[in-house]
Amino acid sequence: KHQDIGWHFDNTYAQLPGHFYTKLHPVPVREPRLVIANDALAEELGLNFKAISEDALAQLFSGNQLPEGAEPLAQAYAGHQFGHFTYLGDGRAHLIGEHLTPDGKRVDIQFKGSGQTPYARRGDGRAALGPMLREYIISEAMHALGIPTTRSLAVVTTGEPVYRETVLQGAILTRVASSHLRVGTFEYLAAQEDKAGLKQLTDYAIQRHYPEIIDSDTPYFDLLKAVMACQIKLITEWLRVGFIHGVMNTDNMAIACQTIDYGPCAFMDSYDPGTVFSSIDYMGRYAYGNQPRIAQWNLARFAEAILPLLHENIEKAAAMAEEAIQSFKALLQQEWLAMMRRKLGLFGEENEDMEFINGLLQWMQRSHADYTNTFRDLMDEHFPEDPHYQDQAFKHWYERWQQRLERNTKPFSSSLCLMGATNPVVIPRNHRVEAALNAMEQNADFSKLHELLDVLSEPYKDKEKYTKFKNPPAPKERVYQTFC
Ligand code: AMP
Ligand code: MG
Ligand code: MG
Repeated sequence: KHQDIGWHFDNTYAQLPGHFYTKLHPVPVREPRLVIANDALAEELGLNFKAISEDALAQLFSGNQLPEGAEPLAQAYAGHQFGHFTYLGDGRAHLIGEHLTPDGKRVDIQFKGSGQTPYARRGDGRAALGPMLREYIISEAMHALGIPTTRSLAVVTTGEPVYRETVLQGAILTRVASSHLRVGTFEYLAAQEDKAGLKQLTDYAIQRHYPEIIDSDTPYFDLLKAVMACQIKLITEWLRVGFIHGVMNTDNMAIACQTIDYGPCAFMDSYDPGTVFSSIDYMGRYAYGNQPRIAQWNLARFAEAILPLLHENIEKAAAMAEEAIQSFKALLQQEWLAMMRRKLGLFGEENEDMEFINGLLQWMQRSHADYTNTFRDLMDEHFPEDPHYQDQAFKHWYERWQQRLERNTKPFSSSLCLMGATNPVVIPRNHRVEAALNAMEQNADFSKLHELLDVLSEPYKDKEKYTKFKNPPAPKERVYQTFC
């Protein structure tokens, strides 16, 4: 067993029925090396990385030596991938246990890239260094942006090659999540018509994530509505910062409503709701502007999965689910409108706000304006000087904005304050992420990675050293595609 660094495991998922998972150990790796460790997160979790050597950390986060209390398993799940139902499961991940933090939170500790499991299908169970660091960078950036997300605790290289289009370095990411319960976990039991298992899983999810509804007369219907409400909040947050998840399959939608599974995700530079980066998203199913619609579609799959629990009369159950899912659009619109008002420093509500906000977005799309920078430029006390903003359509919109601000219930200083807290200065722009990963993979140069992580850790501050990170990519720097 591994030296203790403050683990406090209490594994509840491992107590659920045996067909929910397969208990098995990570596959040992040849020569683990620590690439990056998240000291700030470790501290939050009550873990002391300084208690042991870097080598010992590498042994730990490679799965070669498990800590006391770990009970590794691979979770079974299913999911709709690009609209098609499939049986899945952790093919290259091991949940090593649930750790209780000093402030009483329960978190999953999961290795990703830790070897084949019975759910691996044709996969090798491994992950490459680039994508694991990509998840590290973007999940930590999302956290700093204030968006619910899984976190990244460490990345190690395995000392073993992985074979993709080329030979790459193998790596393992340690991911920290509220849980790994997904829409697909419910679909897995529903597809097998395992009603007893489904009830057990659902009761477990309520107890773990929504304890306030345990005593409700309609706990399962309340769960559906609660998951819907927090997914609406989450998707709206993605839209706020221009985040495109890229693979919103139902197995990548967490019941605890954290952003999960960073694959070909990316941030939009110039505003266009049709923006897609993922190399496998041929149809644009998961484009920036489609994300609300897809979230609703995924929630409909969740409602279908738990349908037998909603009401004993299945027709009544279907009517309840239908009504909840139909309410999604209006609820999302409300949340979105409130978020956009914050981005523009608007207090109070006016009937024309929707049309007014869309006016700016349409102008941004037509003139290929940068989504992030436009909102920050509006915060200039004077009309933005950039040549982009000198056209009549923008000037007209800007005048309307000035008038709308004058009707605000609060002074302009309050608007600036609100805008400053809602509009990031820096986001993990794709070309910067790729540059950091390339420097690291090709020249073993970690300086760009650390510089990027540093800048992204305080995205609402505007510092001198941020300048080059604020710029959208020059034409030759543009990244058009991201890969899983
Ligand atoms: P994702 O698209 O990342 O959500 O992954 C979909 C499924 O493929 C999950 O069940 C993964 O565990 C599995 N998977 C992805 N890559 C691999 C791999 N290299 N080996 C085994 N399973 C994998
Ligand atoms: Mg996944
Ligand atoms: Mg993935």
